[in-house]
Amino acid sequence: MSIKQIIVIDCPQCEVRIKSEATTWVGDAEEHAYVLVECPSCHQALFGATSVFRDEYGNWGWDTAERLWPAPAVAALGPSVPAAARRDVSAAQKCFNHGIYPAAAVMCGRALERLIKEKTGKSQMLAKGLADLKLQGVIDERLREWADALRVERNIGAHASDTETTKEDAQDIIDFTVAIFDYVYTLAEKYDKYLRRKSPNE
Ligand SMILES: [Zn+2]
Repeated sequence: MSIKQIIVIDCPQCEVRIKSEATTWVGDAEEHAYVLVECPSCHQALFGATSVFRDEYGNWGWDTAERLWPAPAVAALGPSVPAAARRDVSAAQKCFNHGIYPAAAVMCGRALERLIKEKTGKSQMLAKGLADLKLQGVIDERLREWADALRVERNIGAHASDTETTKEDAQDIIDFTVAIFDYVYTLAEKYDKYLRRKSPNE
């Protein structure tokens, strides 16, 4: 197939989404291809992951690239986070990269509901669920307060609402979601490993 080599990617220095031509790419175009492009304004090198798609006219093109370097636009969750939640957070980050901010917030809400269900054993509303997580000692007071502030100000976990989710709102919600998953799964696992190393016979 012939693919136009125009790549869309965020430039962190210019803080805008830029379009630039990739001179080359490696990988499997339909799964994960890696591209290196130059920002047309500041000439910074940008490295990203993308894949091909076919537009409504049948032309192949590259999807908006997810920046991997410098400083990835997205934070990766550790392998101890359940796969379904990792998929939701990754989908939230993709929505964010495409400028679909309300969808990014909804995907984060879904990931948080999964976390609550797994850790408390029941499906419940975010506000109640996060309070339960605090009661059970799964999260600390700071995370619960952060969750509460986001719920009130940023409309976290809103299913249908008239309030608009801005870019800043979506970024705050994604940051919080990544932080709570890191705390509950990744940090807990690292601490358990540390304890096992200290007392291997127990
Ligand atoms: Zn730039």
